[in-house]
Amino acid sequence: MSEVPSAPASIGVLTSGGDASGMNAAVRAVVLTAAFHGIEVYAVHEGYRGLVAGGDLIRRVQRGDVDGILQRGGTAIGTARSDKFRTREGRRTAARNMVERGIDALVVIGGDGSLAGANVFRHEWTGLLAELVEAGEISAHAAQRHPFLRLSGVVGTIDNDMSGTDMTIGTDTALHRIVDALDALQSTAASHQRTFVVEVMGRNCGYLALMSSLATAASWVFIPEQPPTGDWQKQMCADIRAGRAIGRRHSVVVVSEGARDRDGNPITSDGVRTLLEDELGEDVRITVLGHVQRGGPPSAFDRYLATLFGHHAVERLLADEPQAPAQVVGLQGNRVVCAPLVECVQRTQAVADRVKSQDYEGAMRLRSSSFRESCRILQTFQQHAARPVPSDRQFRVGIIHGGGPAPGMNTAVRAAVRLGLDRGWAVMAVNNGFRGLRDGDVQEMSWMDVSGWVSEGGADIGTNRFLPDAAALAEIAEQVAAHRIDALLMAGGWAGYRAAHELHRHRQQHPALDIPMVCMPITINNDVPATELSIGSDTALNSIVADVDKIRRSAVATRRVFIIEVRGHDCGYLAHVSGLATGAERIYLPEEGITLRDLTTDVYDLAESFRAGKRVGVVVSCEGTDRIYTSDFITSLFQKEGGDVFDAREEVLGHTQDGGGPSPFDRIQATTMTARSIEFLAEQLESGGRAAAMIGFQSGQLLFTDLTRYPDLVHEDVQRPVHQHWMQYRGLAGVMRD
Ligand code: ADP
Repeated sequence: MSEVPSAPASIGVLTSGGDASGMNAAVRAVVLTAAFHGIEVYAVHEGYRGLVAGGDLIRRVQRGDVDGILQRGGTAIGTARSDKFRTREGRRTAARNMVERGIDALVVIGGDGSLAGANVFRHEWTGLLAELVEAGEISAHAAQRHPFLRLSGVVGTIDNDMSGTDMTIGTDTALHRIVDALDALQSTAASHQRTFVVEVMGRNCGYLALMSSLATAASWVFIPEQPPTGDWQKQMCADIRAGRAIGRRHSVVVVSEGARDRDGNPITSDGVRTLLEDELGEDVRITVLGHVQRGGPPSAFDRYLATLFGHHAVERLLADEPQAPAQVVGLQGNRVVCAPLVECVQRTQAVADRVKSQDYEGAMRLRSSSFRESCRILQTFQQHAARPVPSDRQFRVGIIHGGGPAPGMNTAVRAAVRLGLDRGWAVMAVNNGFRGLRDGDVQEMSWMDVSGWVSEGGADIGTNRFLPDAAALAEIAEQVAAHRIDALLMAGGWAGYRAAHELHRHRQQHPALDIPMVCMPITINNDVPATELSIGSDTALNSIVADVDKIRRSAVATRRVFIIEVRGHDCGYLAHVSGLATGAERIYLPEEGITLRDLTTDVYDLAESFRAGKRVGVVVSCEGTDRIYTSDFITSLFQKEGGDVFDAREEVLGHTQDGGGPSPFDRIQATTMTARSIEFLAEQLESGGRAAAMIGFQSGQLLFTDLTRYPDLVHEDVQRPVHQHWMQYRGLAGVMRD
């Protein structure tokens, strides 16, 4: 018996099913990772159609071939549906095409259909090869050299309907497109006091409809998994009318294309329009977003996610036994994980089956807990005003910022005000951070005070880096008592955490400060403890990525290296993710620092690449990487040493990173995190507890960490958390160099 080869001979990569933005980044990552390991890669063009047709549709690819595809939407290698591949005969031809080229491993990037098809193919492989040998189409020796088909699946579909991963490639970009469209519609709808019905994609999965509604404060949403109950027609019209009565100028109803009522009848955008026109007696307009949702350049998150997925898909092919079951690469709780492909496909199809058979509760149970929670939170926001609650139950809760302004702060204040009012609390906004609290600059908020804040950048109630000293703490305690603040929600960054911790630390000295408190992470730097992600950083990343795209394009005619300095203080998160998401040649982080030896090696390596044909180079450096080897210094060094091979330019991206409207992800996280924080404060207030905590994402869950642990979780001298989960993916930068 011949020995089973321990590594795949050559890897084929294909994109299949509906296209999704970010697929190119995944293909690039597959090619670069395979090249890193010295393994040949073939790009299979036009999905399974190309695999069956063979010929020029299956082409060798080298590192240079994937240069510049990372930032492009769609899929550069094409996708198609193939009826031939659904037949055994078609798959036999596909197997022959692969064996002829020595390909015995596949990375399939597509939806559940594509992955299911790949798995059928994998199971049949040995049989198909035997048939090919018998028919004389391949030699027995060739069949022996490729006894198994190794398979890794990467989920690329905008629907986010795949089990085994929290996010699929393309979903975040689609959300960007939808949220941009809904924002634009809100402003025109407000000008005319008009109602819009907007249809978004999602046959069996309401993810896009639900999350875009949460991110834009839509009035109503219809999703396949949760048909409306009771006399929903009457309720919807009553809610929209009531919203108008308290000053809401626009209404947007979002309909998922697969929405149904309890009896399984489709709820269509046309039907909703007719209903609203008849009941409200006004013009209602329909917008069907259609294929716009698929297109456009991938978001920062999709580029990063696809890069991680493509890389791990290849690593998994190399690590597994050749006969090991196929795996799907996914993201669970911010970590790349693999799950058996068969189970993921089966669970995904089970949700669709339950929706079809009208077992909606069953379908919802199979959705993630965050999906269910988002449904619940959205229901509260859809109310036009808070329910009246007896005044004797009223608590007075303050919301305050600390640290630099970050996208998502206004979103959080809006959520806190409305969710607090909904519980019958008085919600007090503290203006200008802890300095404002010292000065008693506190104002009670009403439901409509925060209208429109869901999508606004900046921090309307003000924020700063004020850190109270002993005298200020005493004054703050007086103000907290004077305003009868029973609990405090601090939504901000590093300085906010420090200030809140100071208040908590002095609670025995100042009993007025012995109140429940939550610190919520909103800072672009992602440098606060007890969370893997902070709100605001996603918006900053998208801003960086958009700028780097422009910078790259500005240099097509010259040979140039850009040294791009991004924010982050002493935390390299923005540099790490944006570097990978833009295909940077080098990424410099404060966590590692930089030496003259690094710089020398890098400048000569870059010169080598330019001599071999490179035209643009990007180096991303965090502002706090090195006090001596600043971006300015690096640029001068590169300029001098680049000689006549390339020149160097510095770009400091600055404040565009913390301005701008929050991204869909930041809006959704700001809203759901605030909801959980309010629940925490409610539990404390109602039980007489006085706990203070930091809320954060940890392994995919929203968890609270005792605020007293703050000093143990940070490096105070360098301003970053002791544990930074993303550093585990740092090694990718060395693999992903074009
Ligand atoms: P998606 O991957 O987006 O769910 P489809 O369901 O349309 O898209 O599948 C894409 C292609 O995958 C199909 O055109 C077909 O070639 C292949 N495919 C899907 N299901 C199977 C299957 N059960 N057996 C073989 N091939 C399949």
